[in-house]
Amino acid sequence: MGKRVHNFSAGPAVLPEEVLLEIQNDLMDYKGHGLSVMEMSHRSAVFQGIVDKAIASTKRIFSLGDNYEVLFLQGGASTQFYMIPLNFCPEDKVANFINTGAWATKALKEAKKIGKKMHIAASSEDKDFTYIPKEYQLSENPAYLHITTNNTIRGTEYKTDLVLDDIPLIADMSSNIMSKPIDVRKYAVIYAGAQKNIGPAGTTLVIFRKDMIEKINPGLPTMMDYHTHIDKASMFNTPPCFAIYVVGLVLKWIEKKGGLKAIEKNNIEKAQLIYDILDNSDFYRGTVVKEDRSLMNIPFRLPTEDLEKKFITESLENGMLNLKGHRSVGGCRASLYNSLPIKSAQDLAQFMLDFERKNK
Ligand SMILES: *Cc1c(COP(=O)(O)O)cnc(C)c1O
Repeated sequence: MGKRVHNFSAGPAVLPEEVLLEIQNDLMDYKGHGLSVMEMSHRSAVFQGIVDKAIASTKRIFSLGDNYEVLFLQGGASTQFYMIPLNFCPEDKVANFINTGAWATKALKEAKKIGKKMHIAASSEDKDFTYIPKEYQLSENPAYLHITTNNTIRGTEYKTDLVLDDIPLIADMSSNIMSKPIDVRKYAVIYAGAQKNIGPAGTTLVIFRKDMIEKINPGLPTMMDYHTHIDKASMFNTPPCFAIYVVGLVLKWIEKKGGLKAIEKNNIEKAQLIYDILDNSDFYRGTVVKEDRSLMNIPFRLPTEDLEKKFITESLENGMLNLKGHRSVGGCRASLYNSLPIKSAQDLAQFMLDFERKNK
């Protein structure tokens, strides 16, 4: 095997080595069937087994009851931005949003674009999305409240599940899905592009509480209607077979690690290595309020942009990829998703300390 880098990419992101090796092993001949998963009929019993396992793992990991559906769709989280208002916001109601960053903004813009009534119940835009709003004000007649549980670009995260009494809570969990235990029962719909925490690009996990089925607006185009995907268990048309297979392997890996509690412990340990440096340094500076900072994406600044450039260049020379901040905010960002080995975080921490010593 060639040498692997430390990959701090915000997405598509690092995958567990064990999973990559299993894929390699299965590639020419999936478990003795004599063909690759990429070449199989999606209607075959073998592939159905792969999907069933991925769904069963999701249900076990989140302790989901029979009142939840698990779907693997295409189009990325970005398609959900559009499907959710289309399906769940009727003419006489209002789609409510908490705006915590670039992705949340994109989601609410989609609702507007398709002519839905839209209301921003809270926003942290006043301070450049550097915190999570603690209060919100719903509109009259809300259809649902949409939140983004982890803000990939700014690096803020909801630390606890929001509690809503009467209206459905819908969450974009693209960048912190399965990174810690959550109470899924608080959510009506959860969705996440797989490519950050649970797999490769190409499929989107959608977890769907069954009471939402009756709320689906009538008369929608077939592929945009959740009924289609629920009725056919994600197999209305050709699903993203290979991506679902890899997600299934990552979920198996999560279960083997001990599930979400164990994953969270590991994530806290990794993030702490970096946050300790930010907290104890006058060279590096974290960019968001402490209580809301993300376990997954850690943006930080250096004293000057020149030093940031030098930091990125030297990190690359040291086998550390993708530490550049998102182009919209600049600076640096380390993404420490589930599959990132602790060794990567340790080496980054050491590199940061060395860089500070040499450049202060
Ligand atoms: C990456 C990301 C998206 C976009 O996901 P796609 O699958 O590329 O559409 C949406 N929301 C959040 C929070 C993200 O991090």
